Amino acid sequence: MKKIILFGAPASGKGTLAKRIRETLPEIPHISTGDILRDNKKRQTPLGQEAQKYMDAGQLVPDKLVIDMVEDRLTNEKNGYLLDGFPRTVPQAKRLLEFSQPDLVVVLKVPRQELINRVVGRWSCPDCGKIYNVFNPELTPKVEGKCDNCVDTSLEHRADDNEETMNSRIDTYENNSFPCIKFFRENGISVKEELTMKNGDKWETLKATPEDLRFILDL
Ligand code: AMP
Repeated sequence: MKKIILFGAPASGKGTLAKRIRETLPEIPHISTGDILRDNKKRQTPLGQEAQKYMDAGQLVPDKLVIDMVEDRLTNEKNGYLLDGFPRTVPQAKRLLEFSQPDLVVVLKVPRQELINRVVGRWSCPDCGKIYNVFNPELTPKVEGKCDNCVDTSLEHRADDNEETMNSRIDTYENNSFPCIKFFRENGISVKEELTMKNGDKWETLKATPEDLRFILDL
């Protein structure tokens, strides 16, 4: 089974691309370290309590915590993976290659201002996961603050989705995460870049057909 890493700055569209890939590869598990950490934070597990202070400040959670969490999740996983949000540092990438060889790294590249615009208006449904953006008429909910699908559910805004935190998260991505791409290349892992396109004034995650995705993912 395919082992794919989705790589890109926060809000670059990794989650959206993951959904599209799963339409082509339904068996593959989508493993988002951000989602696992947020879930632990919500349930106030020891990991969640420890991770909370870093996440709320827009900083990376220490390598050891995240590496143990991912190793734990990937042990005995037989269906490959779509890793979203991991690795974020070269030590994380090094550790990953010690216990698993990914087939492919897909890098999403989006300009900084577009990333900031995306997160500041972003709201999501805690029940069905649908994402809204109050600055984008196509993505505005029909009833303010409520999910279109789960009518009684109030939409949520992530505590770390503000401009100041976002700038700091993009700086962290450029300084700590970006060097992973060079590291993967040096270790013979296939890296595909620039899977975004400009539609008028907006940058969007590549709208690939299933055939395009099969080509991109070497299926
Ligand atoms: P995300 O949803 O992927 O943007 O992740 C949200 C937050 O979780 C990040 O800002 C970090 O604080 C933390 N996080 C997620 N993945 C990692 C990782 N691989 N290494 C360190 N921190 C992470």
